Amino acid sequence: MFRIGQGYDVHRLTEGRRLILGGVDIPHPKGLLGHSDGDVLLHAVMDALLGAAAMGDIGKHFPDSDPAYKGADSLKLLEKVCRLLETQGYEIVNIDATLVLEQPRVACHIPQMREHIAAAAGCESERISVKASSEEGLGFTGSGEGVAAAAVALISRK
Ligand code: MG
Repeated sequence: MFRIGQGYDVHRLTEGRRLILGGVDIPHPKGLLGHSDGDVLLHAVMDALLGAAAMGDIGKHFPDSDPAYKGADSLKLLEKVCRLLETQGYEIVNIDATLVLEQPRVACHIPQMREHIAAAAGCESERISVKASSEEGLGFTGSGEGVAAAAVALISRK
């Protein structure tokens, strides 16, 4: 049995924060604001996985009102989501994610993002796709106010 899920997230870019995308710490004057490390890509991936299993969303599992998740490493949260799916008998078939941002250019970091996600998920990196796109200077991503990410995940029952 196959199930598909989608996830979407946005975080604001602000000074005084590290920019962490797909678990990669990327040198940039601004980072993503958030209760956790603000890793918008991993948040979209987690929501896609949870959505595929109809198990709610990351706000339900890791509420931002909970101090335990302040500054949380989103890779650790992704590991928890993947273990949760495993306990329900699911395995990940593949994940495809798109980052939407104007700056910085992240293409050279994508292989490492795929490795990080695959390691957290316990699968091969061939099952994980990460892409990056700009919105041609339009909207909040184009102006550099924020970064968006979308993801789809296909899972199956073992
Ligand atoms: Mg988020």
